[in-house]
Amino acid sequence: MSEENPKNLSIGIVYEGNTDYLILNGIVRHIIGCRDCLPLQPSHDLKKSLYRPGWKGVLRWCQAHGSPDSALDWNNDGQFLVVDRVKVDLLIIHLDGDVSRNEDNRIVHCMSGCPSARNCQHYGQKTVNPLSCDTKTCPVKIPCPEHAPNPDGYTSHLSRLILDLLKAPKAASDRICPVIICDSMEAWIISAYDKTPNPEAILNPYETVIAKSKAYHGLRIHRKGNKKDVTVYREFLKTLKANWEHVKTQCPSAQRFEDSVCHALQIAPAKSP
Ligand SMILES: [Zn+2]
Ligand SMILES: [Zn+2]
Repeated sequence: MSEENPKNLSIGIVYEGNTDYLILNGIVRHIIGCRDCLPLQPSHDLKKSLYRPGWKGVLRWCQAHGSPDSALDWNNDGQFLVVDRVKVDLLIIHLDGDVSRNEDNRIVHCMSGCPSARNCQHYGQKTVNPLSCDTKTCPVKIPCPEHAPNPDGYTSHLSRLILDLLKAPKAASDRICPVIICDSMEAWIISAYDKTPNPEAILNPYETVIAKSKAYHGLRIHRKGNKKDVTVYREFLKTLKANWEHVKTQCPSAQRFEDSVCHALQIAPAKSP
């Protein structure tokens, strides 16, 4: 295992929304004892973000950083990446698994690899943004048969899409950690609090479980459109960290996330108290 002090590591996160950053950053710090991760997209200062928050912003960021003149450089020996001129030891890219279903009438299918996507006019054109396909213009149905309609299938679909868009060379791909949480980040929260079986198979867990009533485990859930309450998520993070060992047994994405972070950085997970 690496002798490197985790406090010296630089870890960047591309994520959908504020609360996702809060949880992922908190869990990475919990696992390896590093300092705060860099919020690469969206930036905490939204004026500095090239793209809007949300899953479309994540995919647009990946596509822009996979283009030949992008600001993402691969160090030849795969020891680190340079993202927007900043050295990064690990690049974490988060998407919720629900992107693998029809969101917003968009069809985010694979752009190469899966034969069932061949009917799309953009198939094989690696410069075309997967966001250009919608239910009106694209005949492809998702999830395609190559990816089972379950959390494992959604994970393989979206992880491959992220790596395809980034055009990561093999040596560097260990330094990129796609984290696909099915159906969304809230599966980890539900597992930590409720220990419900198969939390990653619950559709729209925020709507169907957490925000179903006015309060969730004594925490008031405010409903202001799509906005989630950061104060509540800080409380969620405490419970999630306290129950992380259990969450890993219920959520394959949690175990996979810890394994790939530790593997990429060649670091052992911090001992739980
Ligand atoms: Zn596919
Ligand atoms: Zn298409």
